[in-house]
Amino acid sequence: KILNPINRTQVTQDLSENVILTTVDDLYNWARLSSLWPLLYGTACCFIEFAALIGARFDFDRFGLVPRSSPRQADLIITAGTITMKMAPALVRLYEEMPEPKYVIAMGACTITGGMFSVDSTTAVRGVDKLIPVDVYIPGCPPRPEAIIDAIIKLRKKIANDSIQDRAALTQQTHRYYSTTH
Ligand code: SF4
Repeated sequence: KILNPINRTQVTQDLSENVILTTVDDLYNWARLSSLWPLLYGTACCFIEFAALIGARFDFDRFGLVPRSSPRQADLIITAGTITMKMAPALVRLYEEMPEPKYVIAMGACTITGGMFSVDSTTAVRGVDKLIPVDVYIPGCPPRPEAIIDAIIKLRKKIANDSIQDRAALTQQTHRYYSTTH
């Protein structure tokens, strides 16, 4: 049927009001950023602040975050605490067991640089980003729960503009990096 100009205007107006156009990436990202499931991973005192976030006072469930104990059910890992050389292979294995796409938040001075152990220690990893790719860093010793919430909001903004293909490529690069250096 050929529409006359008046009907065309009406159809255009109806479409703009009632049809939402998007890409698969946008739809997927919208769903993911509202339901991040973090793996419980604490190795030192920073985790106490992370644990406070789970309680009623800071109520991080309101962001759709549901803590998980299995890497297979998690798409976010918040590394809270010192990473030792002995722990490094276990951390990488946990990361590899998480399904794609997955994200990392590095929490606290120890996990970002080795912290107070970065000078003389022979057992501390001097930066978790030498093992796995980090999306957001939270400086501090320890960072407050509000800083973790700020990091979650930054990560959600990052996910909103993410590409599924780019994430998969990034993860593959990291696996190659780790396997060639350890
Ligand atoms: Fe503990 Fe500070 Fe290191 Fe966090 S950054 S693990 S609070 S020493």
